[in-house]
Amino acid sequence: KKLPLDPSEEQGVRQVKGACFSRVTPQPLTKPRFVAVSHQALALLGLDGEEVVNDPLGPEYLSGSKVMLGSEPAAHCYCGHQFGQFAGQLGDGAACYLGEVKVPGRWEIQVKGAGLTPYSRQADGRKVLRSSIREFLCSEAMFFLGVPTTRAGSVVTSDSRVIRDVYYNGHARHERCSVVLRIAPTFIRFGSFEIFKPADEFTGRQGPSYGRDEIRGQMIDYVIEMFYPEIQQNYPDRVERNVAFFREVVLRTARLVAQWQCVGFCHGVLNTDNMSILGLTLDYGPYGFMDRFDPDFICNASDNSGRYSYQAQPAICRWNLVKLAEALAPELPPDRAEAVLEEYLDLYNRFYLENMRKKLGLLKKEDPEDEIMITKLLQTMHNTGADFTNTFRSLSLISCPTEENSEGEEDSVKKATDLLIEQLMFCICSELAMLLSMAQSNPTLFQMISDRATIARQLERLSKLKDLMETTQEELKTKQAEDWTSWITQYRKRLARELEGQSDVQAVQEERVRVMDSTNPRVILRNYIAQNAIEAAENGDFSEVQRVLKVLEKPFSSQPGLELPAWVGGGGTSAEGERD
Ligand code: AMP
Ligand code: MG
Ligand code: MG
Repeated sequence: KKLPLDPSEEQGVRQVKGACFSRVTPQPLTKPRFVAVSHQALALLGLDGEEVVNDPLGPEYLSGSKVMLGSEPAAHCYCGHQFGQFAGQLGDGAACYLGEVKVPGRWEIQVKGAGLTPYSRQADGRKVLRSSIREFLCSEAMFFLGVPTTRAGSVVTSDSRVIRDVYYNGHARHERCSVVLRIAPTFIRFGSFEIFKPADEFTGRQGPSYGRDEIRGQMIDYVIEMFYPEIQQNYPDRVERNVAFFREVVLRTARLVAQWQCVGFCHGVLNTDNMSILGLTLDYGPYGFMDRFDPDFICNASDNSGRYSYQAQPAICRWNLVKLAEALAPELPPDRAEAVLEEYLDLYNRFYLENMRKKLGLLKKEDPEDEIMITKLLQTMHNTGADFTNTFRSLSLISCPTEENSEGEEDSVKKATDLLIEQLMFCICSELAMLLSMAQSNPTLFQMISDRATIARQLERLSKLKDLMETTQEELKTKQAEDWTSWITQYRKRLARELEGQSDVQAVQEERVRVMDSTNPRVILRNYIAQNAIEAAENGDFSEVQRVLKVLEKPFSSQPGLELPAWVGGGGTSAEGERD
């Protein structure tokens, strides 16, 4: 039967039963134009970025405003546990599949922000410039940091407008509809399997396709055959195959979250519908990279309980895996799933430690004390207000004690301590200066923006920083120096053990610095960096988005002429918030 194709006319927002997707038509934008493209992501599709940019139809096709030949646009149906509660049907409310591209390799492409689908619920299926730039930049930044992620090929903006914020004075802000082209092997998520869920014991909601055992079977077969072909091949027994598949998802999820922790990334909305079945970082909403290290860091203004705080992420991902296992039952026997889940914590710890050892340059030996030393480092960072990224990057400047320089051990520790303290002071001062200038230059900001939770948090931070500054700088320096001297002394002792039994000390030193400097990034996508690029783009200047992308493509090396100020933390006001 021919399906109705126009979502605005015949295909209203509705429950979609007995299906995993619905055909939709992306809604064209008025005067679409590129804000930026990622040449490297487009190359995955066999496209030349330069050609695409120079083609007047480029933004039309890459925003879904014109539908490519052979494309059959569709929106995916999924459910999800949102903030711990089963939410029933969610689905692609704003994203639209265009299809798969078979070059050498195979990629699925989606346009995000292309308008209404049956899953849009009360919203309009559009995205605005700020959320699109944030998704675009971070997808690419994560890839270049070596963290598994969906990719972003382009961001297109337009003259179509939507309203997101209405100020207290009744004034509404009209924002430009914008679309990101997303690229991934698949966008299937844990929530894709939750459409088969029976009535939830708390909310009473059930998945729209509850009871459709044959579709669940097809979904599992499809995902394993398509994306886990080795498992399909190696396990002729169906149950054993499904267990092996689940074990692999558990492993990839543990590895992914360990990588997030090691770059100070906080996802912000770890609902089951944002968990990729391939272990990719998926859905960039109110995410954030930490500036000053704070285990309780929360980047989502509507996460009042801190459910998705930085330190909660590993446990939350396990919780999400439990929900996936429930959704896969009875294809995945619960007792088998439980046994696999028992492995999660060990796997996570192993990946985390392995990664942290690289960050600290501990490559030759595994010492049971390493875990304690890492914890102590993080504690010291927390106590002294140290910037996460900059502190790790500085560690390669601390030298291994060798025969020749062992005489000056005290001097070396002092030098390293002074270096770190200087950076800390700089970091605190510039953060304070920036927050103050934000407050001064924009006094109406505090009354006008609807996002009060963000402002409350900024003010709280400001007053904490002020307290910190009120203890005299000297006092602060002394206190911090004590903390750091103690840790650095321990660290250098550990470094000395790395050299034990090594004949070529010089080579060990060089390798250590090389590994550390390709594990600890110089630059990450700090909130204020994204915010600056967004503000410029909102004023019609897209060059900052492109410049930031260029810098983030090489996060481990310095690029003359392309520097981002590395010591300014905090900032960013209205960039948060989804449903934009
Ligand atoms: P998220 O919190 O971004 O993971 O989204 C949760 C659900 O809301 C998903 O079903 C999204 O497709 C949907 N959604 C998010 N933004 C929009 C939007 N602007 N219009 C329609 N649906 C949306
Ligand atoms: Mg989502
Ligand atoms: Mg989203």
